[in-house]
Amino acid sequence: MSQVANESGRDLKLTGLTKTYPNGFQAVKSLDLVIPAGSFFALLGPSGCGKTTTLRMVAGLEEPTDGTIAIGTQEITHDKPYRRPVNTVFQNYALFPHLSISENVAFGLKRRGQKETAQQVKDMLELTELTAQAEKKPAQLSGGQQQRVALARALINRPEVLLLDEPLGALDLKLRRAMQIELKQIQSEVGITFVHVTHDQEEAMTMADTVAVMNQGVIEQMGAPTELYENPATTFVANFLGQSNLIAGTVIGKEAGVVKVDMHGTIVSIDAARAHTDSGTGWVGIRPEKVLIAPEGEEIDAPGNHMTGAVVVDSSFMGVSTQYLIKMPWGQEILCHEQNTGKRGVLPPGTKVDVSWRPEFAFLLDASQDVDAGREED
Ligand code: ATP
Repeated sequence: MSQVANESGRDLKLTGLTKTYPNGFQAVKSLDLVIPAGSFFALLGPSGCGKTTTLRMVAGLEEPTDGTIAIGTQEITHDKPYRRPVNTVFQNYALFPHLSISENVAFGLKRRGQKETAQQVKDMLELTELTAQAEKKPAQLSGGQQQRVALARALINRPEVLLLDEPLGALDLKLRRAMQIELKQIQSEVGITFVHVTHDQEEAMTMADTVAVMNQGVIEQMGAPTELYENPATTFVANFLGQSNLIAGTVIGKEAGVVKVDMHGTIVSIDAARAHTDSGTGWVGIRPEKVLIAPEGEEIDAPGNHMTGAVVVDSSFMGVSTQYLIKMPWGQEILCHEQNTGKRGVLPPGTKVDVSWRPEFAFLLDASQDVDAGREED
């Protein structure tokens, strides 16, 4: 099919977007967001954080209480849904069961009075690899194929923004992974802005250029997946996006681009760019795969913030890696994921170990935040 590239400057802009439901519950709280034209954007958050409400306001299915929605300089806040250059793919696909796949895909064009639809439908079926299914009815298709019909049916309308509300939620894990890659390829081919709503952090990180982590109606942090993962700014993001060890410490000073923290008697360094506080108490954060261990006294490959006197509490061999639960000398249990490089066998529970991580991998968060935020949702 021909490229449906976005007009430059047609970013999706949400300004002060707010939704208070009639019962007084504020589901979305003054959201300010710019989603660049042509990007793959993921809105990620636990159930009930306000993702769907945000999406429905952009689609025109929910009236905002306050704020504006614009595409480029065109404000669409109060436009009827069908007047917006926006289409939605829902989790349940909402296909017409009595129409063939071709007819389902042609639906939007026909409704707009277009007579010649054959070539566009053919192109769209090719793009979504459904050519062989053209004459079938939705019930004769697999879940993944139905999902692609829903996508083709939305894309044929050449929207500027495609909203995807948990579009892969009904598929099993393996198919979901395959569809994630396909969706991403289709997005880069058509160049339309995709806004993907999901509670699945892996899905958001795999697919999106930019991920916005939403919690209780506000965006906690937004950025490229690697940026969010490596340098989370809040305990919620640190726990919701992957796993984090968060260890209490007290800032003792700042020198040459690092913040020094007294962590239960061990002085550790944190890169200033990853220190989200530089005074008082804080949570020292370290991802489990960045934690290196070795039997007591043995040299650790990449020494850094070094601690002795830890004990393995649990070892789970996962094939690709071993996941250790390690009790630190101050009693806290931390996670360590060790890649199965074949260098040594699994260390059994009870093994005395030393622990180390490179200072550049640690981050520091303000201790006023709940250390368990985002954890139960994961
Ligand atoms: P999920 O992934 O479960 O769909 P979500 O992040 O999309 O969650 P929303 O559907 O946007 O969340 O809902 C946000 C909050 O608003 C929830 O607490 C929900 O209970 C509440 N809510 C949604 N619709 C209404 C309504 N019509 N009246 C009152 N509260 C509502």
